[in-house]
Amino acid sequence: MENRKTISLIVPVYNEEENIPLLYQEIVKTWNTIDNKYDYEIIFVDDGSSDQSKQRIKEIIDSDKKVRYIGFSRNFGKEMATTAGSHHAKGEALIMIDADLQHPPHLLPEFIKKWEEGNQIVIGVRNKHGGYSIFKKIGSTLFYKIMNRIGDNIRLTPFSTDYRLLDKCVIGYFNSFTERNRMTRGLINWLGFEKDFIYFDSPKRNAGTAAYGHLKLTKLALSSFVSYSLWPLKVAGYLGVFITIFSGILGFYVLIGKYVFHESFASSFSGPAQLAIFTVFLVGIILTC
Ligand code: UDP
Ligand code: MG
Repeated sequence: MENRKTISLIVPVYNEEENIPLLYQEIVKTWNTIDNKYDYEIIFVDDGSSDQSKQRIKEIIDSDKKVRYIGFSRNFGKEMATTAGSHHAKGEALIMIDADLQHPPHLLPEFIKKWEEGNQIVIGVRNKHGGYSIFKKIGSTLFYKIMNRIGDNIRLTPFSTDYRLLDKCVIGYFNSFTERNRMTRGLINWLGFEKDFIYFDSPKRNAGTAAYGHLKLTKLALSSFVSYSLWPLKVAGYLGVFITIFSGILGFYVLIGKYVFHESFASSFSGPAQLAIFTVFLVGIILTC
């Protein structure tokens, strides 16, 4: 029993008072079916909940010392919650799992089995978008399409979730990242390593409402595009080059045409119009830079 390996389960929690006890029971129930060579450690990361989530977690800790609590001073978002959890995980591997039971705990043994087979990362992939609204379905499809087209060195599997296992060696690298605005999925994919997938049907969220509304998801998507792709920056650069060339040629034509050849069209550009062309030319240079 002494040298049993520990597996850390990281649960980001934002107003999940009703789901916490249920999730815990499900995890323990599943764990009892696993060959007892592994211990679990459950780290609940309370991401600034305003309900009774903290109390529910403390009640569990009172009866189970393998459960731990990390509390945030305010809501920082799920990505930061899972990051904090991974920094405190003591296990040989960690598994991130949502509190709302959309990541079925009965799949935990499958994750562990794939890990034992030598995969350092095991990713849960939803069979289509079960349980999500039409907007989320369209948004998520678009997100993966754009991300895989413009992303530098990352390839995201459509419908992949944050239900995933990371081996200790991956956790070390993952923890060395310091970005605050992060998309865990993207960072982990960027790292490489041996991967395998587990496909599952995602049920509807158990109790409560999804904190990731459309606005929050859109913000996350935008920050992902900017973080994992140089494309937005390149677009600004190309636009700058175009504006510089166009206004440069026009300015040159106006100057020479008006003051050297006294050509009628060029002469129709007034002083302020010439100033405008010059300003646009400078904007182009700035964008190019
Ligand atoms: N969550 C969090 N901080 C937040 C929003 C959500 O820790 O600001 C947690 C939430 O409690 C749940 C998981 O992240 O365990 C997934 O959240 P949600 O169900 O709202 O997202 P969705 O299932 O729609 O992706
Ligand atoms: Mg959910």
